[in-house]
Amino acid sequence: MSSSLTPNQAALVLGGGISGLLAARELAAAGHAVTVLEAAASWGGCVGSHMVAGLTLDSGAESYATRSSAVAELSAELGLGGNVVAPRPGGAWVQLPDGPRELPKTGVLGIPANPWDPEVRRSLGFVGSLRASLDKYLPASIGASASITSVAALVRARMGRRVLERLVAPVVGGVHSADPGLLDVDMVAPGLRAGIREHGSLAAAVAAQRRGSTQSSAAKAGSAVAGLEGGMHTLVVALLSDLRSRGVTLMSGTAADAVERTTDGWRVTAGDTAYDGGLLVVALPGPAAVGLLQAAVPGLAGRSPESGPDVRLVTLVVDLPELDRRPRGTGILVAPQTPGIRAKALTHATAKWDWLAAAAGPGTHVLRLSYGRLEASEHAAGTPATAPDFLAAALHDASALLDVPVQETDVVGWDVVRWQGALPFAAVGHKARVAEVRKLCAAEAGLGIVGGWVAGNGLAAVVADTRKEIRSLLS
Ligand SMILES: Cc1cc2nc3c(=O)[nH]c(=O)nc-3n(C[C@H](O)[C@H](O)[C@H](O)COP(=O)(O)OP(=O)(O)OC[C@H]3O[C@@H](n4cnc5c(N)ncnc54)[C@H](O)[C@@H]3O)c2cc1C
Repeated sequence: MSSSLTPNQAALVLGGGISGLLAARELAAAGHAVTVLEAAASWGGCVGSHMVAGLTLDSGAESYATRSSAVAELSAELGLGGNVVAPRPGGAWVQLPDGPRELPKTGVLGIPANPWDPEVRRSLGFVGSLRASLDKYLPASIGASASITSVAALVRARMGRRVLERLVAPVVGGVHSADPGLLDVDMVAPGLRAGIREHGSLAAAVAAQRRGSTQSSAAKAGSAVAGLEGGMHTLVVALLSDLRSRGVTLMSGTAADAVERTTDGWRVTAGDTAYDGGLLVVALPGPAAVGLLQAAVPGLAGRSPESGPDVRLVTLVVDLPELDRRPRGTGILVAPQTPGIRAKALTHATAKWDWLAAAAGPGTHVLRLSYGRLEASEHAAGTPATAPDFLAAALHDASALLDVPVQETDVVGWDVVRWQGALPFAAVGHKARVAEVRKLCAAEAGLGIVGGWVAGNGLAAVVADTRKEIRSLLS
């Protein structure tokens, strides 16, 4: 069986995550007849939703970075501009081996803009702040040179071990589920090394990025993220409705099995159906994208990125009025060396988002704990196995992290969501590998490649990069 679209006018998009849906929108706006193939039964990929105790909650991404205006602009185009919300200003905490501290609010990935800020000093101690402040006097070449490749190497060289262990490792673990020693600095902190050259120190580069983010943010100054009232998944709902109104064909439950070149474009096979198109956009996780494309683009062989971590999110909805006082602000990140705690982060969602607190009602709280992090071997710790094990671990960890006993009898609903390999792993060298992959794909007429693994993890990066890539494909 073969689909009936006219090949050159037809555009095929593989993957119905945020990058694929946005790519489809750009292609449809340019006049193409677009078909999107998505393997899962539901749309949005990592921007998913689930129902727990009668509340519709984000099951994956729940906010976006405001360092660029990309997501706010897309939200506005889709009629959601009035729904952009800032989190409660209280900020988050970090659980250190010697106890909880408030997380400094002026950092990027936990790297402080001012080592002598009182919150930073409380986390680092006098000696830690003193070492971090040496950054200001080091030559700009330290950290900006090609010999520094990981986030850990950059932070250690400029600000020392305490900043790395007590601020950066917890934040990076919470966002990227990996040890900063494993992550490519240019992929997870784009522009930071160039900022050192421009502004003379890492702290100054961080301060400049923060200034940029508050200028372009529709949310309150000072917060590095924003969300949407109703949850980030409402962006997917709005995108789908926009795509339907543009006549885009949306095929869920349809996994692409093979990709080949034809005389005038591309052929994708899914089960026993072949889809032909003049344009092909691959919006899949890295290993799947390279795996599917390498038969048609042989240069891609051997360039598959490493698979991402196996992340579980345990959501607890609890009736526990003691949490009304928001004991750890919007949530708490866990330093990897903290004994007795297996979660890497806890988001107190009803303390973070006013709209959710209103939906849950007084005394009811939504807690989201995340598990699974790619570790440099010395920190590796056991992870629970079954859903009941995760519930037990989450109750234990939430009690310790919030310093309020959270018992099974307080739980009115819970869920465990598994994100296997969905979070791209920007291992050291990833940026160079992505540049090669993009060069090889750009040499193929009518082929575009988008998604978190090429753009950098996170909605802000994915939205901006997808638009740029599709516009260049169309031109
Ligand atoms: C648990 C979690 C929490 C996160 N939280 C945040 C956050 O708060 N803020 C933030 O900015 N970012 C967050 N992120 C990151 C952000 O969600 C991602 O960077 C972004 O959504 C990636 O979008 P994507 O389209 O590139 O990929 P994906 O969302 O992974 O979409 C890829 C799609 O391809 C489909 N697919 C796979 N194989 C095939 C095939 N053979 N054929 C057809 N379809 C296929 C998949 O089913 C999937 O739907 C989070 C990620 C995770 C996993």
